[in-house]
Formats: sequence, structure tokens, C-alpha cells
Amino acid sequence: MNQNHSIAKLQKDFIAKKLSSTELTKDYFKKIKASKTNAYLALCEERALKQAKTADEIIARDGERSFEKQPLLGIPLGIKDVLTMDGVVTTCGSKMLENYVPPFTATAVIRLENAGAVSLGKLNMDEFAMGSSNENSAFGPVIHPTHPDRVPGGSSGGSATSVGADLCVASLGTDTGGSIRLPASFTGIVGLKPTYGRISRYGLIAFASSLDQIGPMTKNVDDAARLLQVMSGADEMDATCAPNSVGNYLGKLKDKWSWSGVRIGIPKEYFVDGMQMEVEASVRESLKKLESLGAKLVDISLPHSKYAVATYYLVSASEASSNLARFDGVRYGVRPQSAVEAPDPMSFYKRVRANFGPEVKRRILLGTFALASGYYDAYYKRACQVRRLMKNDFDEAFKSVDLIASAVGPTTAFKFGEKSSNPLQAYLMDILTIPASLAGLPGISVPCGVDAEKLPIGIQFLAPHFEEERLLQAAHSFETEVYHAI
Ligand code: GLN
Repeated sequence: MNQNHSIAKLQKDFIAKKLSSTELTKDYFKKIKASKTNAYLALCEERALKQAKTADEIIARDGERSFEKQPLLGIPLGIKDVLTMDGVVTTCGSKMLENYVPPFTATAVIRLENAGAVSLGKLNMDEFAMGSSNENSAFGPVIHPTHPDRVPGGSSGGSATSVGADLCVASLGTDTGGSIRLPASFTGIVGLKPTYGRISRYGLIAFASSLDQIGPMTKNVDDAARLLQVMSGADEMDATCAPNSVGNYLGKLKDKWSWSGVRIGIPKEYFVDGMQMEVEASVRESLKKLESLGAKLVDISLPHSKYAVATYYLVSASEASSNLARFDGVRYGVRPQSAVEAPDPMSFYKRVRANFGPEVKRRILLGTFALASGYYDAYYKRACQVRRLMKNDFDEAFKSVDLIASAVGPTTAFKFGEKSSNPLQAYLMDILTIPASLAGLPGISVPCGVDAEKLPIGIQFLAPHFEEERLLQAAHSFETEVYHAI
């Protein structure tokens, strides 16, 4: 991975006039066009080059000081195609939105652009963020950055490959049940899912509103802190965006972090059956190393974890069935000629809704069933109750530990087609990421090793709500002082 293209290094290069943002941006477009990874669905060249030119002018005029006001000045980013950008086609990886040009921009993207970032384009993803491999995109799968026979993970597959293959400096992904953390671990990059409510969801096309969260996917933890810093904080456009004060994410990374006395909870339920041996070994080795640095490993139990996958697929499918009702060819969504010529309303809807792919249809059916009168109490309501018990498990655990650590996915990146014939198998990839999503907790995936085929392995750290400072400090220390020492 090209660590020369980390934000801190680029700022130095811009100042030293070794490189301009315009040169860098043009270079990225060249690389993206030559790439066979299918990571990008759309490029916004005009917008990007304009942003880069402005950045170069500001840097030439104000030098180092320009980064104080605009900490991402001139930095080219990729944006997952689930986030709206004014005037740029936003498909959500679906035929249903193939031609949708939103008239507004997501708050997270506005904040990045206001901080000087350059938006290169929109990144491929599983349709409506439903999937773990990016094979559910209506526009073809994304290829893993180093192993072309492997998936990059999903649903933020384009976001992962674009960073892993250095087709942007950093990207935005979204995580509903693991879609930032799993692809980050598959591709050997850093993926941060902030606390639910830390970053505004305005302009994030909803899959499951009570779970969806935007987060950075980056080459290192320092970059993740920089993006989080800019995007976090209350937003009057999103009532679920928390008013909690924003931490000093970047500044804190400069403080010395000591593992001495840090209590790391190891949930006994998280070393699951069927876990790839090398994944377990690599995570255990990392933990041992942390212990040798003074951390205290504490065995903990999150007893309701066994219900996590079932609970998640009820809650998320129910919310999806409701959120996706708006794609009816009247309010939103394509209206094909066949629908315009439909003889009656029912055939109109059928011809419009046929534009959803099989996985999206499956979730809509499941969710509609779970919300149907007569079943609501047995399924949706029950799932919400179990969700609360899972959150209580974490609250209890965090009374005696500072962080929780585990693997990110049970395996490394799998081959194309390996799991697509069996949705249940695919759903199990999220077994280690979903509990934190249901509890709304922040989590980060950091590289911790490789398997025999040199496929990356990630370690996941979780922290209590709004403790991103702690999470980033620990992850940063792991990345810079521990992993390289293993
Ligand atoms: N793989 C999970 C799913 O298919 C998670 C997706 C996500 O986090 N967006 O729902």
C-alpha cells in the first residue's frame, strides 16, 4: 500500500512543492481509468480538478497555515455510492437508481469538501449496502486489490479496494452490520465505524436507519482520525445525529499511549466455530503481544451474542422493507417505458420493482413479513427486545474493561462465488461485527497479520459509546508499535 499517500505525508509534499493537488488528482484519474478493479462507478473529474486547483492556490498563498483552517486541503477522496452528491449520479449499486441525480449533498461529504477535500468519484458497493462481498452490486463485483480471484468484502467493497489499490487517499464507507470493518480487514486497510449518531446520516440513502453509520476507510489510523474529526458533530438535518461534543481525535494520537493497565475484554463467544485457524492464531498472537506490553486480558462473556445474526437480519430487513418502499417509480426510482405503458397500477409497480436485485428482494420480503400485523410482536418487537439485551451485555462488560478485542471476520477474503449460492453462509460473515452495530458502539478494524496466501487479517477493537478517542489511540499504538513488532 502506498503510505506516501497518507494525509500527513501529502501535506508535507504539497508545502515542499514536491507535488500539487492537481498533479495528484490527475494521477489518480489516470490510475482509476487503467484499473480493472471496478471500484468506481462514476468519476467527477470537473468538480475534482476545480477543487484541486483551488487547494493549490490556497496552499501557495497561505502555506502550512492553510491546513489549520482546512485540514484536508487538496486530499483526493472516494465516496461510497450510497452518499448523495449534488449533480453526481448516485446509484446505491442498484438499477433502481441508475439515473438518479440528487439535488443535494450528504452532510459528511459537505464537511469533507469544506475542509478542502477533493471528491474523485463514487465507489461501487453491494446493492443498497446489502452484502458482504460486493457481489450484489448491479454493476458487477469489485476485485480485491492484491488477489484478483478474491472478493474485497462488502458492502463497502469499492471503498476498500480504492484505498487498498491506492486509487484515492482515503474513502468513505458505511457500516450497518460490518460493511466498513469487514472489507477493511479483507483488504488490509483501516476501517472505522463510529458510534451510532457520531456522524450525520443526512444524504446517506437509508438501508436500516437505526444501524447505518458513515465512517472512514484509510491507509492508517492517523488518516481515519483526520476524517472523523472533520465529519463528526451535530447536524440540524439529522435528528439522530448526536449533540455530544466532538473529541480531539487527531490531537490525542500525539499523546503517548501506554498499554500498561489497559483492560482488554476477550469475549468467549467470539472465537466461533468454523473460524479460519490462521485468523484466530493471528488475533491471539496480537493479544499476547499487548499483554507483554502491560495490557490485562480479561475473559468476558456477551451471552446474547448467539442471537446477533438472527436479530440483525430481522431488524435490518424490517427497516429496509420500510425504507425501500419509496422506490416505486413515482416518488423515487426508475420508471421504465414498460411501466409507463402498464395497463393498471399493480403492473406498474411490478415493472418498476423488478429493478431490484435478488438480495434486495429477499430482504424486502423478509422485512415485510416480520412487520406484518400478527407477526410484528413475534418477530420485529422480539428482535428489538433482544437487541436491548445485547446492549446491556456490552454495558455490563465495559464496567470491567476499557476495550474489547476480537477478529473482524471469521475468515480472510474468500473467492468469488464461494458464498453467493447460500445467503445464510454469507450472513455468517458478519457474526463478529453485528453485535457492536446492534449496540451502536464504535469499532475499528486494523491489520494484524496475513494468512498463508498473504491475505490480510484484521483485529477489531470496540470501545464504549462516543469513546472514539480511546479507540483511535489504542488502534494507532497497535498499528505503529505492536503490529510491526510482531
Ligand atoms: N453484510 C451485512 C448485510 O448484508 C452488513 C451490511 C452493511 O453493513 N451495510 O446486511
